[in-house]
Amino acid sequence: MSEADTNPSVPALSVAGVSHSFGEKQVLDNVSVTVPRGTFAVLLGLNGAGKSTLFSLITRLYDNVSGEIRVLGNDVRRTPGKALQRLGVVFQSKTLDADLSLQQNLLYHAALHGLGSAEAKRRAAEALTTVGLADRAHEKVRNLSGGQARRVEIARSLMHRPGCLLLDEPTVGLDIGSRESVIGIVRGLVQQHGLGVLWATHLIDEIADSDLIVVLHKGRVLFSGRLPGFLAETGAKTAREAFRIMTGTASTEEEAA
Ligand code: ADP
Ligand code: MG
Repeated sequence: MSEADTNPSVPALSVAGVSHSFGEKQVLDNVSVTVPRGTFAVLLGLNGAGKSTLFSLITRLYDNVSGEIRVLGNDVRRTPGKALQRLGVVFQSKTLDADLSLQQNLLYHAALHGLGSAEAKRRAAEALTTVGLADRAHEKVRNLSGGQARRVEIARSLMHRPGCLLLDEPTVGLDIGSRESVIGIVRGLVQQHGLGVLWATHLIDEIADSDLIVVLHKGRVLFSGRLPGFLAETGAKTAREAFRIMTGTASTEEEAA
């Protein structure tokens, strides 16, 4: 563990002054986001706001040419190995191998992180227990529902014990019950293990009162803070209304979905 890992004042994630363009088109404009440890942060934005692009910069799929991104204090450009080792990611699109078992999917990920086989099996069992799928370990992923597969992706993201977790629209396409189960598991990780979570969504009803809210709109952060501040700044009574006022959009997820 690095010094930053044991220093509680170092945030799980810090993004400072990051911009990004695809050719002529600027999709992120001077974005700054800080997620302290033990915090569930909702990155709220309509489709096209730039959420996935920001995730691609944090995970080094793209290089951030401006600004600075740190995971538990580790700069993703200067010390990418260390930074990515502290990061867990659940991508927007499905990335499990459907023909492998739950356990095999997890062990494969563990091997990529250099974990020995006995330790990897122990962690796989632990992670599957965390997401409530320990009894399905030897089944093929193909047999799972969408919500269960998401839970396996969360389990996989925990195998290397990250301090910061990114989830990109993890509940899209899930029924209400599965959505609640997935979000509940992730909130549990924040409370029990002090993870810093950045949860990208366009679904405003996923915000809880205690969450950190980061509004990303057309590549800019319009707000970062807690619900009372969000309401006060807009004079709104609900988060939905506040989002509408702040972004000047007529409706929210109905349009974005
Ligand atoms: P979100 O995840 O919030 O829906 P994205 O980050 O996917 O938003 O997209 C932000 C903007 O960048 C959109 O206008 C999208 O069309 C554009 N974009 C995303 N990826 C690419 C790419 N690889 N090439 C060109 N434009 C892209
Ligand atoms: Mg996206």
